[in-house]
Amino acid sequence: MLILQDDRIIDAARQQIVAAGLKMIEQKMIAGSWGNLSIKINTSCCAITPSGRSYDSLNTEDIVVVDMQGNKIEGALIPSSETPLHLAVYEAIPEAQAIVHTHSIYASACAAMHKPIPALIEDLVQIIGGSVDVAEYALPGTEALAANAVKALQNKKAALLANHGVVCWGSSLNSALMTAEIVEKAAQIYCICETMGGAKLLPEADIAVMHDFYKQHYSKRQTEKGDEVLG
Ligand code: 13P
Ligand code: ZN
Repeated sequence: MLILQDDRIIDAARQQIVAAGLKMIEQKMIAGSWGNLSIKINTSCCAITPSGRSYDSLNTEDIVVVDMQGNKIEGALIPSSETPLHLAVYEAIPEAQAIVHTHSIYASACAAMHKPIPALIEDLVQIIGGSVDVAEYALPGTEALAANAVKALQNKKAALLANHGVVCWGSSLNSALMTAEIVEKAAQIYCICETMGGAKLLPEADIAVMHDFYKQHYSKRQTEKGDEVLG
């Protein structure tokens, strides 16, 4: 049974998910009803998009609440068929507070080629700390896809799902969405570079410096609180 405080968190999460879905359509990160989004409410449940529903017609009450075993707690619709993926990421990565699964075009092109997006551009390596790796192929919606994605996400905030799309996690839905945007942009740059002789990759030592700078400083400037302590 959910307590009152959780109800407020669930309402806020449902609103954020509906708004994010609209933004993702605008950005062409998803098409039709594919892709899915979730927010962790607490250690025992998360709010997730319903299966097979287009984002332009979602209402807050359409967002389903499931427990960490995938049982529906609230909502009339069927939870996303990728609920096992979302739950596996929450279980493996306790810092993950939100998950975005997109079918964005350029990242999906890399996923279709089973080609990782290499460490070729600054914002990508700041967030990811290296390449965006490809999870071994598995059928959508399966426990195997979830397990393969968790493996490819090791120490990273994003992974490609072979012949399918992208999964990203964040400390908030906004952060997971931003990662999905940066991954898509890097994938597009990579595809462009591949047609023009190939990108020159960043040096390993500089990748570590940039990733560390992001974790220690830049990510804090991006939060609403901007609570980086200078000095
Ligand atoms: P759902 O509509 O069930 O969330 O599935 C879409 C999808 O992207 C499957 O991988
Ligand atoms: Zn999908």
